[in-house]
Amino acid sequence: MTQETASEEKKRNPIVPFLRIPEDPKQEPYLWGSKCKACGAVFLGERIACGKCGDTDPLEEVHLSDEGEIYVFSVVHQTVPGLDAPYVAAIIDLPEGVSVRGNVYGLDPEKPSPEWFGKKVKMYTEKVRTDREGNDVIAAKFRVLN
Ligand SMILES: [Zn+2]
Repeated sequence: MTQETASEEKKRNPIVPFLRIPEDPKQEPYLWGSKCKACGAVFLGERIACGKCGDTDPLEEVHLSDEGEIYVFSVVHQTVPGLDAPYVAAIIDLPEGVSVRGNVYGLDPEKPSPEWFGKKVKMYTEKVRTDREGNDVIAAKFRVLN
């Protein structure tokens, strides 16, 4: 019998509240949103009321797609220590009608191209740092699909 307890285990905490990391490590992390039962509008993360029709019935939680398209992007040349620059920061449209900000990998930031608009990307997650309690901090990133 060992005295190691689950409470001392490292946790995986999302860097943004709209990224959910299932307890079961076999399940993939995913983005989630809130869907209005009255008009069907979808919002990223939690909402207490619909921003489209104003309905205040509790919104329904929905699992968002892990694939989307680049709506707009910019190349970031200045960043915090520990993060490589330049990199491509984008707003990605998901098929549910919501947009999410994310960094896109698999494109050459030195050669930005108008062809990047509308490019299909897929979400993945990566540990970006360790928090003060020793837990992994997990971020959602995107890579280009061929
Ligand atoms: Zn609504």
